[in-house]
Amino acid sequence: MSEQNVIMEVNHLKKYFRLDSKRTLKAVDDVSFKIYEGETLGIVGESGCGKTTCGRTCIGMYDRTDGEVLYRGEDVHKMDTAKKKEFTKKVQMIFQDPYSSLDPRMKVHDIIAEGMRIHKMNASRAEEIEEVQNLLRSVGLNAEHASRYVHEFSGGQRQRIGIARALAVNPEFLLCDEPISALDVSVQAQVVNLLIKLQKERSLTSMFIAHDLSMVKHISDRVGVMYLGNMVELAPSGELYKNPFHPYTQALLSAIPIPDPKIARNKKQIRLQGEVPSPVNPPAGCHFCSRCPYVTDRCKSETPVLKETAPGHFTACHLYG
Ligand code: SF4
Repeated sequence: MSEQNVIMEVNHLKKYFRLDSKRTLKAVDDVSFKIYEGETLGIVGESGCGKTTCGRTCIGMYDRTDGEVLYRGEDVHKMDTAKKKEFTKKVQMIFQDPYSSLDPRMKVHDIIAEGMRIHKMNASRAEEIEEVQNLLRSVGLNAEHASRYVHEFSGGQRQRIGIARALAVNPEFLLCDEPISALDVSVQAQVVNLLIKLQKERSLTSMFIAHDLSMVKHISDRVGVMYLGNMVELAPSGELYKNPFHPYTQALLSAIPIPDPKIARNKKQIRLQGEVPSPVNPPAGCHFCSRCPYVTDRCKSETPVLKETAPGHFTACHLYG
């Protein structure tokens, strides 16, 4: 991908949370990557790896501790009020929990129309009604659903309402923060397929955060793997799943269940030792060293840097280069 179509550039981003006078949680600790126009970048990792904090800091929901996030060249954390308003229209978020992210006191029409009203996007009430009905249809719901309340809908339908709300202001970038993890397995694929369809139709760029590697593969052009606040591997989706370099990625992929028992029997399982250490007190050197089967003395003192280990494939591990 060329340098011209970078939409978001994240440089040495850090987001720390001060817990008390002695303890600091380093949720995101020196992360750099780019997102190209029209692509979906998946960000995966176990809970507590910093993926949600990273996404939210990238769209300015959290202030950053250090580093920078550039959106079309503009520093997200230094925008003036007018630029920020424009940015919050262009960049929308789909939340993890469709139960708590929609106001139960509002009718579906008002939930979806709220953003359009803030940005004065419709000339008349009739235009607003038509727009909301079109949005409902585009996410697989019916026009008459506009007059109902969210408690009348299933989890999958509520997430569709959340998607319609995000699309109402014609965004160009979506942050999808674990949008399917609160849904029944049976509806997860439907919502992912809907997102893929809408992204194509509307030429959206997106960051898709998830802990489920198999679902991320389905939707992402490239995938970044996070571990304890660091990006440890970043590669085109097919390449990452076929040829993972980082021992943590290898372990995550080997844990994905395979439906065919014959293939599953021949698959090499990499079992990780112990739990993810606390991001308040991560191991020195490579943060993965306390669980890595290939750890050496160097790993315990020197932090590996994310570097290109194959064309377009970046890895932070001393085993490479
Ligand atoms: Fe394992 Fe060392 Fe690579 Fe870290 S740097 S992943 S501890 S081999």
